[in-house]
Amino acid sequence: MQTDYDVIISGGGMAGLITASAIAKFTNQKFSILVIERNPKVDAGKKTVSGWICGDAVSKRSIDFMRTEIGLAYGRPELEQPVKGVVAYSPDHEAPILFDGEGYVLNRKILPQRQVSDAEKLGVEFEFETTAESLLSENGRIVGISGTDRKTGTKVKKTSKIVVDATGSASKLRQNLPIKSKIQREIDKENDLESTGRYILEFDNARDDTTYFDPDYCIIHLDQDLAPGGYAWVFPKGKNKVNIGLGVQHKSLLRRNRRLSSNDTLQSLIDKYVDGNPAMKNRRLADGDGDSGNSKGNWQVPVRRQNDCMVADGYLLVGDSAWMPRPIDAGGIGPTIVAAVLAGRNIAVALEAEDASEEMLWTYNTDYVRAYGYQMASFELLRRYLQTLSNEKISYGMKHFLSNDDVQNITRREHPNFGRVNLLNPIMWLRIFTHWDLAVGLRYTAKMSEALIEHNLNYPTNPEHFADWHRKLLRMMNEAYQRFS
Ligand SMILES: Cc1cc2nc3c(=O)[nH]c(=O)nc-3n(C[C@H](O)[C@H](O)[C@H](O)COP(=O)(O)OP(=O)(O)OC[C@H]3O[C@@H](n4cnc5c(N)ncnc54)[C@H](O)[C@@H]3O)c2cc1C
Repeated sequence: MQTDYDVIISGGGMAGLITASAIAKFTNQKFSILVIERNPKVDAGKKTVSGWICGDAVSKRSIDFMRTEIGLAYGRPELEQPVKGVVAYSPDHEAPILFDGEGYVLNRKILPQRQVSDAEKLGVEFEFETTAESLLSENGRIVGISGTDRKTGTKVKKTSKIVVDATGSASKLRQNLPIKSKIQREIDKENDLESTGRYILEFDNARDDTTYFDPDYCIIHLDQDLAPGGYAWVFPKGKNKVNIGLGVQHKSLLRRNRRLSSNDTLQSLIDKYVDGNPAMKNRRLADGDGDSGNSKGNWQVPVRRQNDCMVADGYLLVGDSAWMPRPIDAGGIGPTIVAAVLAGRNIAVALEAEDASEEMLWTYNTDYVRAYGYQMASFELLRRYLQTLSNEKISYGMKHFLSNDDVQNITRREHPNFGRVNLLNPIMWLRIFTHWDLAVGLRYTAKMSEALIEHNLNYPTNPEHFADWHRKLLRMMNEAYQRFS
């Protein structure tokens, strides 16, 4: 088949730009790659009109993975602030939990400029200010993109052997996928989409209080009144600069408002959280070159497991369009980096084999699930369970039922097993009996998580066995959802 390009990547954000470079690297620049991005080049990667909305935090491990696998390395100014780990505070602030592990707080406005330049050096072509509107299909397979050139208002059509959808969580391409496939088109918005928002602020130090600002640590506040069904964060971008915001689950917000007879919205909660921070005074929106137009904004994050299938004939999903952020903390950059590298490797193999079928691209599913995705369903379950708990239970659980082993597991991005919730341990009897529901809930979540991890590690190695595997996954998830509801 003669096509305009070998690969078209729709969306020039974190996922699209790394995937483009990865394909070029793995194929020694042998194939033609086009990235279509709706923003002008200076605004590449901008998620919404209000900016590059993100908490900006990523682990060093993810950045290192990309350097080792495809030789791309970042430095300052895109890695804006190094951090030593994350501290999570319980609602009563009495049980801080330290998740050690180096990371960075990024500058998401500057980073895409670096990523575009990296990709251009590898021969990747760009069409900026062009919106991809729909997928072209022929004989049951995807063969290109149609959209609009925003500079001239003209319609454009481009064909390719593979289209990568990296257009983010609101992907219209995935929602309107015109061919038969195993890809899920829609997310359960009520349960699995968080509304989030944040400011990037500069400030003067009001008082030293490292529970509210620490230049060396990302801080997370868990609190069902402050951030119902989500969490609030204070991530340092310097000694006097911060990314501060929170995320909520809409139905948890409604429940919280009924309970407190209040009319709070996402924005009013963010503003109260910022106003209530005692470590900062003289706050102002950051407006240097790397921040102007990006200091205030809200956007959505998917917090379910990744799409149960991420490939179709001629089509592949990566990043938020595949619902990759971790369900427990909405961290999407790490999984996106891993997936983009794996997508690049598998697309390279498909191009060399001149076969872009679902079957050929299937190894991207298995590679990603084995490398990273196998834990996501279990984290989805844990997140759904935590969303049902009161502040008192969260504080009690963090203080008494979370062990060092659990913290280590979470740091390694593995599931906690809540081994302390064990009737064979007499020291725990009183705690378990006074918080029986919580203890039973945590044990159930741990047990189901183990089963889900095992099931995911058995992700089918070819499309033929997907239907049986998927039926069982949905049965397990539905059983747990019903119990939590
Ligand atoms: C408030 C908030 C806080 C977050 N905090 C963190 C955090 O601290 N750490 C972390 O790891 N993750 C965090 N995340 C998640 C993280 O930001 C995402 O996982 C990540 O940006 C996903 O990258 P992506 O490229 O898939 O999608 P996006 O970043 O959404 O990029 C999509 C790109 O596609 C382009 N595009 C969209 N539609 C079209 C179209 N039709 N045609 C052409 N181009 C198009 C857009 O212009 C954009 O450039 C947060 C998210 C939010 C909203």
